[in-house]
Amino acid sequence: MSNQKNGTEQNGHVCECKVGRNIEKYELNRFDEKLLEQRDDGASLRHLESVVNKALLRSALEDSRRDLIGDVDSIYERLTDAEMSAGKRAETVDQLSRGDVDVDELLSDFVSYQTVRTHLQDCLEVDTRRGQSLNPEDARGTIEWARSRSEGIIERTIERLSGVGGFQSGDVDVTYTVRVSCPDCKTSSRIEAFIERGGCQCSVEGATDE
Ligand SMILES: [Zn+2]
Ligand SMILES: [Zn+2]
Repeated sequence: MSNQKNGTEQNGHVCECKVGRNIEKYELNRFDEKLLEQRDDGASLRHLESVVNKALLRSALEDSRRDLIGDVDSIYERLTDAEMSAGKRAETVDQLSRGDVDVDELLSDFVSYQTVRTHLQDCLEVDTRRGQSLNPEDARGTIEWARSRSEGIIERTIERLSGVGGFQSGDVDVTYTVRVSCPDCKTSSRIEAFIERGGCQCSVEGATDE
């Protein structure tokens, strides 16, 4: 990625967003660099959210009587996993409290993936839309390429059938029309019209999340 500040420029400069305040408060060393590295390696915002929060947890544990407690990953899971039983979570909170961790404060310092996105986008100037930034024009080009390629394959397949089992044809033209149907709104249209219209405005559950 080319449009990000380099890590050294970030040293000594901490931004004012929640992630930035936490970096300072929990003394997370060179943390922006780590975030950017993982982002470049393809980490999702959801994953980076846990990277931030586990770093906060790790730092809090370092200041605590941590011999009472388990490892960062399992504690984090017990604190945040929605599947975790309330009893197990309460037990973990209790353990942390006995280890002198201010659990309420820690939990309120935890960040969401949206906060991570804002930090990456506004503070570190990273384009977080990577992978989704295809525009309609590019899409049309790709689809037209695939469509005409399919026409060629179909035409050649028909040619190869010639003389097989009595099959005969002239110098035919093949037209391959792509249609898109949505089971939710029952729309059905040619791909060109579908893109032109901006899709069908239905959404796949979870598709807007990273
Ligand atoms: Zn920030
Ligand atoms: Zn639809």
